[in-house]
Amino acid sequence: MRALLILMCLVLGACSSSPTGRAGREVGVGAQVAVARSDWRTIGTSVLGAPIEAAEFGSGPPRVLIVGGIHGDEREAAPAVEALRRHLVIFPPRARVVLIRDLNPDGTKAGTRGNAHGVDLNRNWPARSFQASLAHGSAALSEPEARVLHEQIEAFDPHLMIVLHSARGGPFVNFDGPAMELAHRFAAAARVSDHRWHVRPEMGYATPGSLGSYIGVDRGIPVLTIEFARGHEAGPAMLALMDGVTATLEGAAGLAK
Ligand SMILES: [Zn+2]
Repeated sequence: MRALLILMCLVLGACSSSPTGRAGREVGVGAQVAVARSDWRTIGTSVLGAPIEAAEFGSGPPRVLIVGGIHGDEREAAPAVEALRRHLVIFPPRARVVLIRDLNPDGTKAGTRGNAHGVDLNRNWPARSFQASLAHGSAALSEPEARVLHEQIEAFDPHLMIVLHSARGGPFVNFDGPAMELAHRFAAAARVSDHRWHVRPEMGYATPGSLGSYIGVDRGIPVLTIEFARGHEAGPAMLALMDGVTATLEGAAGLAK
């Protein structure tokens, strides 16, 4: 019942007048309008000049960076990202959370995996495994979208990253770095709304220059790669994402010690 109420709130946006939301929402002073930190704000732009947006929530020692989308043809979770933003407004986490709405707005608009240069933004990282190519970029961080996220990572110094994708074999959770326990936490919580969620330690193919290789393998920061079921509607994804993220944030408390 609680889940149903929350889901209705999030879908309809009817709960946006929660104390946190109201406190920072459009406090107009003359022409000035204050924007809540939990509202979307632009942190950079894509190749074609589209805004890349982020919102912030909560307080607490662990810093968690969530990327709502990186492959433009894997947007099953997109409605769930807005629902997650509302959820984090209503239930502020005991962690500092930065949520990036969509790292690849050009790819999302065009329905392509890569950005407007045709580069896969999940292969453009300065990992030891980086391989220059047309599809991976001429050099690591050659793409503006990857640089926007890289700047966020350097400034925010996250203890944990969660990145949303979709896959034909989904839904499942893949991980890099010391994230096995958190991956199981996410999957267990997500299974409440969809029994298929499980942990898949290996993707089964090479991912040179991926975010997981760079952040998880090379830098030792836990990374969860959340793979929603490709082509499925967003309703079950919404609850799975909120329950999974909530459980993961509770489990992340120890990361900041
Ligand atoms: Zn993907």
